[in-house]
Amino acid sequence: MLDATPLDTQLAAQADDRLRVLVVGAGMAGLTIAQMLRHDGLHPVLIDRMPRMDHPGYMLALMPLVDQVFIDLGIREQYRAASTPLRRYGFRSHRGRPVREDSLSELLSIYGDYNGIGRGELVEVLTTNGCAVTFDTTVGSLRPVGGGVTRVSFVDHAGTDAGSGEFDLVVGADGLHSRMRELMTLAPPEVVDTGWSGWIAWADAGDEIDLGEELWGDGFFLGTYPVKGRTGVFLGGPIADLEVGPRAFAASVRSRIDSGHPRIEAAIAAVAADPDPYLWHLEDVRTAHWVLPTGILIGDAAAGFLPTAGIGAGMAMESAWMLSRMLRHADRSSLARLLAAWERVERPRVESAQSNSRMLAKLMFRRGRMIAWLRETIMRMLSVRSALGPIVKLVASRPDPDAVAQGAIAARS
Ligand SMILES: Cc1cc2nc3c(=O)[nH]c(=O)nc-3n(C[C@H](O)[C@H](O)[C@H](O)COP(=O)(O)OP(=O)(O)OC[C@H]3O[C@@H](n4cnc5c(N)ncnc54)[C@H](O)[C@@H]3O)c2cc1C
Repeated sequence: MLDATPLDTQLAAQADDRLRVLVVGAGMAGLTIAQMLRHDGLHPVLIDRMPRMDHPGYMLALMPLVDQVFIDLGIREQYRAASTPLRRYGFRSHRGRPVREDSLSELLSIYGDYNGIGRGELVEVLTTNGCAVTFDTTVGSLRPVGGGVTRVSFVDHAGTDAGSGEFDLVVGADGLHSRMRELMTLAPPEVVDTGWSGWIAWADAGDEIDLGEELWGDGFFLGTYPVKGRTGVFLGGPIADLEVGPRAFAASVRSRIDSGHPRIEAAIAAVAADPDPYLWHLEDVRTAHWVLPTGILIGDAAAGFLPTAGIGAGMAMESAWMLSRMLRHADRSSLARLLAAWERVERPRVESAQSNSRMLAKLMFRRGRMIAWLRETIMRMLSVRSALGPIVKLVASRPDPDAVAQGAIAARS
């Protein structure tokens, strides 16, 4: 559970820590790093700009990359109980007919779990043992004060002064539209904007609770993904086409497909019935450097993902896990070297997954009948194994944080 805690209480708790860490953003990356460091006896200060954590929620498929987070925190059973195994992936034609189905278990189960979970449920799991966070708080300014220390001033949502503190490490984990990125680096990030957006809605679980299914239409995209007890629906299209609103867009999609399949019908109906579904703009962002003079960027703040490969949260959590495990070996004198080693190992992995997502987006977010037909021809031959090849390689080759940290320390001496 997230425990709303005054900032002064968090600052006082970390006064004697060997590393004073500030984590900005209590999302997937921020919660992972804060909880991992707390498990190791530190008291990182965790803040979030939201007044409370009432995110509308969406579905996440988590690659086996994240399993070690739950194992290290002793909460793997809680994770399994709150999620559902994703065993199959189905692909439908632009008219809604089934084209192919692949086994995800065959591809991924040797590496660990591949499960669907709601974002809210994942927050609950990660905070099973309690999690202090100061809400309605963000960073107003950052100033290096020498010796690797950064002075941070905090503000609330109205920009009113909320205190200050000094930290050995400031972690910008504030998501895709990161303000920390603007404060830490002047260089504009590289952005891929697909020009598409989509709504998220929830449908009943239905009968096929282990099947993730996608329909790449001509000018629309419909995905259905199981989480525990329900199905997450994503219905997207070119931004201009969505201006009619979810109900009318859902009706237009319905008229463009032949399917009478209950799952497809339920998904379209769920979007049409939701008076205010969560709208997600499909763009990503890539920052050239993660380790910066006043702190580091991690998760979507460093490399934000398109949804196409379902790996953004997985990579954010892996990066946070890797960093927190490496920090077991760090003191103030070795911190800079360890951070550089972390970026050297982790950034190419994340960028490789991001490139895979970008490649799939080029196939998915395109309009035109001819393109739809060509895509289906390709998809008949292209297995999930080939489409996600680079990501499966990453899953199979997770780095060893202790070895990377020890290598970085040995290189100094
Ligand atoms: C609809 C949808 C479906 C997705 N599906 C998948 C999937 O199937 N698999 C997968 O692996 N990934 C998926 N993703 C991507 C995944 O959600 C993100 O990659 C992941 O959440 C990134 O984690 P993060 O901690 O970097 O950012 P976030 O989880 O976005 O967390 C950022 C946190 O920072 C806070 N914050 C923002 N600004 C500030 C500020 N200025 N000061 C303080 N706090 C701030 C926010 O309130 C939030 O709590 C999906 C994303 C969406 C939107």
